[in-house]
Amino acid sequence: MRIGAMQKFSMIDYPGKLAAILFTQGCNFRCPYCHNPELVDSALFAKPLEELDVLAFLNKRVGQLDGVVITGGEPTLHEDLPLLIKKIRSLGFLIKLDTNGSNPAMLRRLFAENLIDYCAMDIKAPAAKYQKITRSKVSIVAIKESIELIKEANIEYEFRSTLVDEMLSAEEVLEMGSLIGKAKRYFLQRFVSTKTLDASFRKAQPISDDTLKSLKAHFNTLLTECSLR
Ligand code: SF4
Repeated sequence: MRIGAMQKFSMIDYPGKLAAILFTQGCNFRCPYCHNPELVDSALFAKPLEELDVLAFLNKRVGQLDGVVITGGEPTLHEDLPLLIKKIRSLGFLIKLDTNGSNPAMLRRLFAENLIDYCAMDIKAPAAKYQKITRSKVSIVAIKESIELIKEANIEYEFRSTLVDEMLSAEEVLEMGSLIGKAKRYFLQRFVSTKTLDASFRKAQPISDDTLKSLKAHFNTLLTECSLR
């Protein structure tokens, strides 16, 4: 397991919980607006943390933190993810997994073993634009399978989309909503310009607030909850 970094405390990454965050190295997507290039581009990888050190830290936080968020990069690329989660769960922590949804086989395994309490999946684009936006050979069949697995897993979950103005029109965001169907929670996230995987996106703009608000209003007629971030 390649854990590139750990954030020891967060009040915002696991809804309603105090959590630590583990960032895994490696991703099979190349979203140009990605704000974690050091977890995606192997040339930028830091020396991975020792798993024993991570577990020792978490052991000291038993009773102080509710859960652990495992994010990336793309955590499901790591075959030993279930093993790491079992070790963390044995300390009594809840687990939130962030995923790009490209590995439904791993999700199926994790859900079957009851290893996930909350799953957050990115919806990157409408089906026809998924490869273009992620700059990767993603299987839309796999993406749709992951969406259905998450909805049926009887766990807390959310879908979420980061919206960059020059990449997606409002009509395309509506198409993205149709991918998740009658899901419980969908978050529309404003793109925030910081460091990006593709340097030319550092000056990219989020979709306008007016458009976001009208998309939110539309999705709230279809879903249990649609909110802005
Ligand atoms: S934003 Fe895209 S490239 Fe970056 S970690 Fe997520 S899926 Fe990978």
